[in-house]
Amino acid sequence: LVVLSHVQKHFGELHVLKDVDLVVGRGEVLVVIGPSGSGKSTLCRTINRLEGIDEGRITIDGEDLPAEGKALARLRADVGMVFQSFNLFAHMTVLQNVTLGPTRVRGASRADAERRAMELLERVGVGPQARKYPAQLSGGQQQRVAIARALAMDPKIMLFDEPTSALDPEMINEVLDVMTDLASSGMTMVVVTHEMGFARRAADRVVFMADGEIVEQADPETFFTAPSSRRAQDFLSKLL
Ligand code: ATP
Ligand code: MG
Repeated sequence: LVVLSHVQKHFGELHVLKDVDLVVGRGEVLVVIGPSGSGKSTLCRTINRLEGIDEGRITIDGEDLPAEGKALARLRADVGMVFQSFNLFAHMTVLQNVTLGPTRVRGASRADAERRAMELLERVGVGPQARKYPAQLSGGQQQRVAIARALAMDPKIMLFDEPTSALDPEMINEVLDVMTDLASSGMTMVVVTHEMGFARRAADRVVFMADGEIVEQADPETFFTAPSSRRAQDFLSKLL
């Protein structure tokens, strides 16, 4: 579904993505882990073109990422993204946050968009909060609304960049549970996270990045029990 080949990215002198090759199959769940500054967020952001790349190629469904205009807006709708900070629109209700994209970008009618939004809000467990404003919700509830908002666009793939890092511990699981359900429903997902329990339980493949490179990729069982690279071994030993 998504193919990155020989992707190079610099920030000035800093070489942040070094010849990255990655294939994400339809329905696959990839968990990306690695030390701080290794390029995990940048990798995610290149997939929906929040960041351009210097060299290489990224395709979704065989098509190159558009650089601008309507095609870029459509790409962003196809690639749902959930960030560490929930990024909900503070002056809109939960329901308005979720219906905005479908009515503006997808051309859905208000009635259809609201019906679908309510389904999704129920699915992530925040149906009763639909008429509230984001500030009236807990962090975990806000993040689940952010997930519903991304899903409302019927994305081909969902990207998650440390979606639980800003949450209080007791709210982490309610978000991970929604993500686990989504993973088992067949959604294609790329998830940057430090939640190794989630990685073990939900990932089809773990991608380990260090210093701008994909150092190792393996199924979670293999990765966590017998990582083959020295850098992955060091990284895992520091977690325990
Ligand atoms: P973390 O685990 O801390 O989130 P990360 O693996 O997501 O780290 P990135 O955010 O992708 O890492 O950053 C990779 C490198 O690129 C870091 O050295 C970072 O300082 C640098 N970097 C990221 N964004 C920019 C930017 N907009 N301008 C300049 N440098 C940047
Ligand atoms: Mg990051």
